[in-house]
Amino acid sequence: MKILVVGGAGYIGSHCVRQIQKAGHQSVVLDNLVLGHRSSVSDDVPFYEGDLGDESVVQPLLEKEEIEVVMHFAAYAAVGESVQQPLKYYLNNVSATLHLLNAMRTVGVNKFVFSSTCATFGVPEKLPLVETMPQGPINPYGQSKLDIENALKAIGDAEDFRFAALRYFNASGAACDSSIGEDHDPELHLIPLAIQAAMGKRNVLKIFGTDYPTPDGTCLRDYIHVDDLSSAHIAATEKLLEPGTQLFLNLGLGKPYSVKEVIEAVEKISGKKIPVEIADRRPGDPPSLYADPTLAQETLDWKVGYDNLEDIVRSAWNWHSAHPNGFAD
Ligand code: UDP
Repeated sequence: MKILVVGGAGYIGSHCVRQIQKAGHQSVVLDNLVLGHRSSVSDDVPFYEGDLGDESVVQPLLEKEEIEVVMHFAAYAAVGESVQQPLKYYLNNVSATLHLLNAMRTVGVNKFVFSSTCATFGVPEKLPLVETMPQGPINPYGQSKLDIENALKAIGDAEDFRFAALRYFNASGAACDSSIGEDHDPELHLIPLAIQAAMGKRNVLKIFGTDYPTPDGTCLRDYIHVDDLSSAHIAATEKLLEPGTQLFLNLGLGKPYSVKEVIEAVEKISGKKIPVEIADRRPGDPPSLYADPTLAQETLDWKVGYDNLEDIVRSAWNWHSAHPNGFAD
């Protein structure tokens, strides 16, 4: 199949492009390079620089490249920032995405794989999170993704539009050959921040809250390797060949790890002590989020390659060690 990867120069998108090629499909990338890195995409993949919300760009691109499926990764995804700058999140994650969907509809592309998030659940009543549990986001990021999930369902009910909304838990790790990996500016995510602190590139790592109702008082999250997310995308794409497909799937390992456990894993793998400071809770953070991945495993016939935190952290460490300045190297 020929797949347009929107946000294909970003962290998760670039890993997925590699797997699309390996799986024998073709990818075309659209990225505005605001957060993405041109060099994370190989030169033999057609690359368009542009905005996903610009229908005058997207519509002719879909036609010219004869795109069959769109995967959409291009979103702002920092919980704390979304609380401070909600409009940025609604404009890009909701408004621009609706324009992308409209461009698809205009030219008759009806298969869509959407990067959703566990943040759509808010503070869960029960754990692990099963797909059918109530959603109630507590930050604008989660709300922006839930708004699109709801739009997809409505469109899919109204016409022959097929979609998979894949709710990522915490994407982490890097390609096994360390050729691409995570490089955000500013970096806001725990694993890369802990690695940068271990490398001496940051003076201190702040732990946002040690008074949560969790075993060690720090937040629990479900860290999943970016290559395992990518393989789920490819399996989901193949499901979209069936008319009427509407998938909402939780993509996680199903294993909760605390902030302190992540720090310990980075210390073990790096052999370095990380200087930490206890800080206030970060607004918008639920205490615990982890998946029940059973439905995704069964629906997609999907198995993860990285099934523990240490292996995931090691792959991230290898990338950061090989590229201390990210893609600037
Ligand atoms: N976190 C932290 N210090 C940091 C960054 C993150 O303690 O400098 C915590 C954050 O509060 C959350 C967990 O690490 O509980 C994972 O945060 P991240 O931003 O990596 O992903 P999120 O779960 O927000 O998508």
